[in-house]
Amino acid sequence: MNPKKIRTRFAPSPTGFMHVGNLRTALYSYLLAKKAGGVFILRIEDTDQARYVEGAIDKICQILKETGLHYDEGPDIGGDYGPYIQSQRKELYLEYAQKLIETGNAYYCFCDKERLAKIREQCRIAKIDPKYDGHCRNLSPEEIQKKLEDKKPFVIRQKMPTTGITIFDDQVFGTIQVDFSQLDDQVLIKADGLPTYNFANVIDDHLMEITHIIRGSEFLISTPKYNQLYKAFGWEIPTLVHVPPVMKAAGQKMSKRLGDASYDDFIKKGYLKDAIINYIALLGWSPGDNREIFTLPELVNAFDINNINKAPAIFDEAKLSWLSGEYIRKLSLEEFVQMSLPYIKQAVSRVPIDIQKISQLLQPRLEKLTDIPAQINFIDSVPDYPLDLYAHQKMKSTPESALRFLKSALPVLNAIDGWSEKQIHTAVFELINHLKIKTGQLLWPLRVALSGKQSTPGGFIEIAYLLGKEETIKRINDAIRRLETETMPGV
Ligand code: GLU
Repeated sequence: MNPKKIRTRFAPSPTGFMHVGNLRTALYSYLLAKKAGGVFILRIEDTDQARYVEGAIDKICQILKETGLHYDEGPDIGGDYGPYIQSQRKELYLEYAQKLIETGNAYYCFCDKERLAKIREQCRIAKIDPKYDGHCRNLSPEEIQKKLEDKKPFVIRQKMPTTGITIFDDQVFGTIQVDFSQLDDQVLIKADGLPTYNFANVIDDHLMEITHIIRGSEFLISTPKYNQLYKAFGWEIPTLVHVPPVMKAAGQKMSKRLGDASYDDFIKKGYLKDAIINYIALLGWSPGDNREIFTLPELVNAFDINNINKAPAIFDEAKLSWLSGEYIRKLSLEEFVQMSLPYIKQAVSRVPIDIQKISQLLQPRLEKLTDIPAQINFIDSVPDYPLDLYAHQKMKSTPESALRFLKSALPVLNAIDGWSEKQIHTAVFELINHLKIKTGQLLWPLRVALSGKQSTPGGFIEIAYLLGKEETIKRINDAIRRLETETMPGV
């Protein structure tokens, strides 16, 4: 017998928000399918119309594509198992629910809101989880017929066994045993005729021939109910892979409100998308060795569901930063220029300016693109800075020596005919040799005079080249004036 082709799915609800935990589920589903030469599908679970957000489906498709998680079947590309949007499959679920009624595995429930609220309140007082009391489980066929004819609103509920235990295996969490008595007669078809997520996922996973279900561990608790549905239909249960939540810290959820939970949040923060994907792969999965940097094809090769950890994963932004820096370093200069340009423009309006040069200086020292403006804001104008900045023990610089050497540098820089880095370099080092001083004694004050900072992308020579001769001379003159008036008034 041919082994079954592996088919996995990512089944998000169109809430307009791609939590990194969801993206990780998509990634693992993609990796599992691709490693096995299988099929990865995108299915939109939009049966909860109240949660629907305009444009959210396009957004999901776009994020999957831009991160390289290309699906083989999905709402915008079709496939043999469509439609891939649950609201477009509405009729189909009712038919299956009716089959369950016929076989005694589901029933009509006509309880109204008030009655259900009362049951919930009783459960709350008794300090037990809300659970339907089975009121409509045993209505006679005549009673049901009458209520349907009277057009009484109804839902269809799953008829769960009330005694005994159920056992299932999960690839990550192992064997799980649950008492049927703990399980609710969950709603399968709502009063609006739409299925609940809890019903639709089972029908669709079966009809779409999904072999492996990867989803968040919050669904573990409902899994025995889904399994009962598979059994009632006589269907094979797919392999279950529940993944632990992604947390900010132990016991602390990542927060949508604080803007550090979704893929978009991290893109806005300036992290590279490839670094985000690489990082979330490592959230709860490890390759079994110390490797940390993986391209997507390398992840496909290395991925193994047996190496998924069941402990909650902690999102370590410092680690993501580090990885993002590594990815920035791997870019070609052209790619980096393209990505950094919008951020460079945020801080720099001076023209003409050598953007390639700025990028070259930034690329080796950057972790995220949003750090760019603060690193180069001095190009337009020198920020306020204290004169103490000229004092630097290791560089053997003091405000007094700074004043002296800036003054000696002026005529030397002025005399340069042209303004290449090489020429600036030669002139400055000739002066250092001539004065018999340490390099830092001249280069430190020169850099401070041009930037007002103690650390900049590139040193004096690169910055002077970027700013041009005129601006360089002007800034040195400004610095000399400040040092003369503020450190040695009256001298
Ligand atoms: N639609 C569910 C959600 O967005 C996904 C559950 C599943 O993967 O089965 O949370």
